[in-house]
Formats: sequence, structure tokens, C-alpha cells
Amino acid sequence: MTVIALKNLEVKENNMQNLDEIIGQSRGLKYEEKLLFEQSSEGACGVDLQEIKNFQNKTGQQAREKIGLAQVSEPQVVRHFVRLSTQNYSIDHGIFPLGSCTMKHNPRLNEKTARFDGFANLHPMQSEAQTQGALALMCELQNWLKQVSGLDAIALSPAAGAHGELAGIMTIHAAHVAKGNPRKTVIVPDSAHGTNPATAALCGYEIVSVPTEKDGKVNPQSVKNVLNENVAAIMLTNPNTCGLYESGAHEIADALHKAGAYFYCDGANFNAIVGKVQPAKFGVDVMHFNLHKTFSTPHGGGGPGSGPIAVCKELEPYIPTPYVVKEGEKYKLVTENKNSFGRLRGFNGQFGMFVRALTYMLSHGGDGLKQVAEDAVLNANYIRSSLKNYYNIPFDDYCMHEFLMNDKLQKDDGVTTMDIAKTMVEYGIHPMTVYFPLVVQAAMLIEPTETENKQSLDRLIAVLQKIAIDTKDKAKAEAMHKNPVSTPRRRLDEVKAAKELKLKF
Ligand SMILES: *Cc1c(COP(=O)(O)O)cnc(C)c1O
Repeated sequence: MTVIALKNLEVKENNMQNLDEIIGQSRGLKYEEKLLFEQSSEGACGVDLQEIKNFQNKTGQQAREKIGLAQVSEPQVVRHFVRLSTQNYSIDHGIFPLGSCTMKHNPRLNEKTARFDGFANLHPMQSEAQTQGALALMCELQNWLKQVSGLDAIALSPAAGAHGELAGIMTIHAAHVAKGNPRKTVIVPDSAHGTNPATAALCGYEIVSVPTEKDGKVNPQSVKNVLNENVAAIMLTNPNTCGLYESGAHEIADALHKAGAYFYCDGANFNAIVGKVQPAKFGVDVMHFNLHKTFSTPHGGGGPGSGPIAVCKELEPYIPTPYVVKEGEKYKLVTENKNSFGRLRGFNGQFGMFVRALTYMLSHGGDGLKQVAEDAVLNANYIRSSLKNYYNIPFDDYCMHEFLMNDKLQKDDGVTTMDIAKTMVEYGIHPMTVYFPLVVQAAMLIEPTETENKQSLDRLIAVLQKIAIDTKDKAKAEAMHKNPVSTPRRRLDEVKAAKELKLKF
């Protein structure tokens, strides 16, 4: 059937369909991007290499065909990933109130120093004589970490918090072995991050769980009840993942030390107390830092992270190598130590993160770091008190840098934690941590961090208040099940990908 006539051209209906198919769903700056494999066209290639005579694989082109890689040109690849990147949310887009993760602004000054030629272009095989500046920087970072923790020795090499936990528990294991008995168990509170029990299990320890009490904390008596000569350590997060300061930490430490066990502190929440409390003062023997949380080096999609550990004098001989020492005017990388449990990785750690973290510390100064903690706590309490008439807050007390709420006041209207999180996405805000920690049903764990200003906190609060109000309107509550609707992708089936794994196109 003829639709329109343009000069001598007849446009048929199936021609129109053809055009629509080629044009696709992209509109404005919203690209409906196809998979690279769907864009593949035979012979397209980003590089133009000469054919190598008598080379078995012939050309890269044929090799790629053989293993089924997409055949695409350089501009296609660049556009593909740039378009996808515009569909991503990041800390540079807006607030990221993920509890426990400390997603805060990464100061651009850190990026600038990390890109200095002398830092960015170093090679880890360069000699000590050629890398004195880098070693001095690592030594200075070790000194700052000793100062803020109150502990005596630092190992910088762990690649992230979980790796720091491994380093810490292996250090404790080595110390117990040196005393003649590695011991059998590690105590872990039930509100702990999953990496805590996983680490202890990986090191061959059995986990003894202690409960979170009604006030959101661990009761020292519960620790004492399970303490015996088989206990190697406790792994305690302070402030904990309910956003509360473990006020029994001292008493727990004393009991542990009496039983010959060590106190491992998960320092992921250190931004709540940095500059205010040295963990050594509440009895900690080992802790890890997440430089990418507390000291603002990028993480998430922007990684890598870095998870140095700090230990007390007694554990110093056992920490992993390498670490830096200053001898006279020279800096030296210690790579061998007979009591150390060994190395965790090939080289010295995430050097770029060391530069960023130290830049952050130096640009804040001691007083600035203290203010980091004060602002983190103030921001979290501002949100908590603004929402307490809208949501159920199980531990209704002043919080540290984060606080927990849940969907108890919304559930009867059919709105769950998942609906609330997805509706935040509709409003252009990354949701808080949901369904963790497990000690509170349908938990929402909110951490604004100290880098958000009042405008940004007020918008987060307004969105969450509006969601709570809308829940009481049947139609609006119903609509929340469909959120988000304005994003490049709608609500996904969260388990389908895991159940029906499809790795090949
Ligand atoms: C983030 C986090 C960890 C793990 O740290 P990674 O750097 O992600 O490996 C451990 N414990 C707590 C409480 C955390 O928040």
C-alpha cells in the first residue's frame, strides 16, 4: 500500500518499518545501546596490522572470528562504552547514601597528586635508590595511620578491607602459632559484615556468633560467656553496622586479653571516629583501614581500594612484608622478616591509593580529620531525626555516621524496603544499603557521609518523607511497585540472571 509520494519515490509501509528498525529506540541523549556482539559486522576492526607470513594464527582478525569476538571499529567501541557510562549513577552524579560503604566525594586534589609524573610513572621493579620519594610517602602514610589508630606498626599491602582482614587474622594466627597453639575459634557478632566470618573461616577458624542486643550493641557478658582458651580473637566492628558505638569495647578487650586472645577491629566505619578516638585506647590489637572509604580514595566502579592494617607492638613481628622503615636519612623496603607470615601480593600495594589517602590526610590536617568525624555524625543524625516520624527506627538513639530504619510503618500498606529503594532510584537518588545488617528485618542503612551539604541532605530527606506519605495513598503505593520508570532500564528481576545464567549471545 502506498503511504506517501515524494517526487518519484513511493514509500511503502514495509519500507517505513525498515526505517524504524534501523533508527531504533534512541531518543535525545537517551541511547538504547545494543550489545557489541549485535553491532558486529564482518571484517570491522580497530587496528590495521600487517599480515604476518607463515604465522600459524594468520591474522588477529581470523583469530577473533574463531573465538567469536565482536568485530567492531574503534569509534564503535568508544561510543558503545561512553553511551553505557552515561546510564550509570556515580558519586559525581549525586548522593550515594550506602550505609557501611562510605561513598563520599573523592577530592580532585588527590587525583592531581596521584597523577604527578614521579608517582604515576614509577615501576615497582625500580631500585630503592630510585624510589626514595615513593618510599618516603609510604613511610609518611604509615606514620599517619599509626597516629590515628594509636597502634605501633603498619602493613600497607592489603588490596581492600577484606584483604586487610585476611592479613590481620593471619597475623594473629602466626602469633598464636609462635606461642605454640593457633587456637580454634574466632568470635564474630551477628551484625558483622560477611567478610568477617568468611575471613576467619578461610584461616581455618570456627565461628562463634554473639548476638546484637535490643540496644543494637554487643553485651560484653555475651563475649565472656563464650570466651575460653580456644578463642584466637574477636572481630568487632566499631562503630558497628547498626551505626552505634560499641560502648562495651573496653570491657570486651580486657576479657579477651585475660584469655590470651586478640581484638581485631573492622575499621570500615572509621570515618565516624577518626581524630576523636584512637582504637588502641579501647583495646584494639589489630585493625584494618579502608583507605577507599575513610580516606576518600575512589571505589565501587572507580576502584581499586586499599586496606592497610595497623597492629600493636606484640604483633609487629608477624605482619606481612613488605613495609617501609627509615634508617638514618634513607628509606628501606623490608621484604624479609623471619617471623612474618609472608607476602600477600607480588609488589607493595595500591600505590596510587597511598598517594590519594596521604594527600587527603595532609590537606585536612589533624584538626580537619577530627571535623570529618564530627560532620559525618552530624549529617547522619540530621537525617535520622528528620525521618523518625516517618519510618520505624529500631535503635532510637543518637547514631554515629549511619543509622538503621526499616519498612515496619509501610509494610501494611504493601510498600516494602525494596519498593522504597526503587522509588528513590525514580527520584534520581542512589538507594541506601538495604537488607543489611541482618539483625534488623528489611533494614535500610543510611550513611550520608560528611561530604554532602545541607541542600543535598534536604533533598534526600524530602524524597524519603514523600515516599512515606505517598505510601498512605492506595494508588501511589500501588505505583511504587513499578518504580523506577524513568531510568534506562526498569525494575529488573533480581534473581533471574543468577538462575538462568546466559553468558553467550
Ligand atoms: C566495606 C566493609 C568491609 C570490606 O571492605 P572492602 O574494602 O569492601 O573489602 C568489611 N567490613 C565492613 C563493616 C565494611 O563496611
